[in-house]
Amino acid sequence: MHFEKDLGLKDKSVSLKEKLEQLNSSIEIEAFSLEIDEKKIGMFKESDVLVDCLDNFQTRYLLNEFSLKEKIPLIHAAVEAYYGQITTIIPGKTPCIKCLFPNIPNKGGMFPIIGPNCGVVGSLEAMEVIKVLTGIGETLSGKLLTVNLKFMEFETINFKRNEDCSVCSEYF
Ligand SMILES: [Zn+2]
Repeated sequence: MHFEKDLGLKDKSVSLKEKLEQLNSSIEIEAFSLEIDEKKIGMFKESDVLVDCLDNFQTRYLLNEFSLKEKIPLIHAAVEAYYGQITTIIPGKTPCIKCLFPNIPNKGGMFPIIGPNCGVVGSLEAMEVIKVLTGIGETLSGKLLTVNLKFMEFETINFKRNEDCSVCSEYF
């Protein structure tokens, strides 16, 4: 979605908006380039679904809490190198991100990512969004799909709520 000519000239959000509008001129896109914090996240209150394409757990936890508080479904996905993971959080029904990852994974600085992995995991995440919005098919709610493209392994793991979860316990 980003071309060489965009490098250093535009925010990623603006570059992405331009490409998506060229793909489909009938959709309306608003692009924001900002760091999400506890105040700014309120701008997503009217959303039908939240899509986590984040690169850090601090903001991911913030999005998780917002999803629960506002009862808005949240699709989580993350990628690193050949690995990817996806799950769907339905507030008040499924475990939350904090149940799954109670602590921020210990990572040092930058991590590698291979383009096609973003394509595969991003497409799977988009599929989850369509299923949540249409109600058609079975979502990954309560299930974590892991993808290891180095060995072409796809695995689905069922996970349960942490009864003592510091975040979602008050919503059950
Ligand atoms: Zn939880």
